[in-house]
Amino acid sequence: MTEEEIRSIKKEISGCTRCVLSENRTNTVPGEGNSDAEIVIIGEAPGKNEDESGRPFVGKAGDVLTETLDKAGLKREDIFITNVVKCRPPENRDPRKKEVKKCRSYLERQLKEIDPSIIVPLGNSALKTVLDETKISEKRGEIFEKNGRKYMPTYHPAATIYNRKLRPQLVKDLEKIVEISEGGS
Ligand code: SF4
Repeated sequence: MTEEEIRSIKKEISGCTRCVLSENRTNTVPGEGNSDAEIVIIGEAPGKNEDESGRPFVGKAGDVLTETLDKAGLKREDIFITNVVKCRPPENRDPRKKEVKKCRSYLERQLKEIDPSIIVPLGNSALKTVLDETKISEKRGEIFEKNGRKYMPTYHPAATIYNRKLRPQLVKDLEKIVEISEGGS
């Protein structure tokens, strides 16, 4: 049932024109992965590679995500990976408040269906949009409870391309996330 609903949300997103981001997109990027996942990873918005492929976290940042997940003992297909907005903002600008608001129900419905143990916003923008918090360097690794859901933010994989020192910390956070998803705290 969940898988069917996730597919139906994906189909709705593919025809969505609720906000201006529909005007310049090549593909919608609804998210992908296990519809029964214990972990949902949320980025801010699709970039160029994602827009071209219709898949979240591809390209260099996607490679880092796959590599760090692997080090933490996870495969991409074990989890669900998505973004706050499902269409690429022009020139990779941050999505605007009203775009986030219009797109929000898709993410909410995905989370309701998947019902994960833990949700992981990646990087400052997703931290701000999802939890209304700032400073990922201070908030990473912290557990937040909001509307009955558990969250743990961590670095965006792209940040660890520019600053390699952050990568072991990203792996450490992902290991902790795995532990929580398996019932640890
Ligand atoms: S970003 Fe979201 S609300 Fe806007 S057109 Fe795309 S799917 Fe629809």
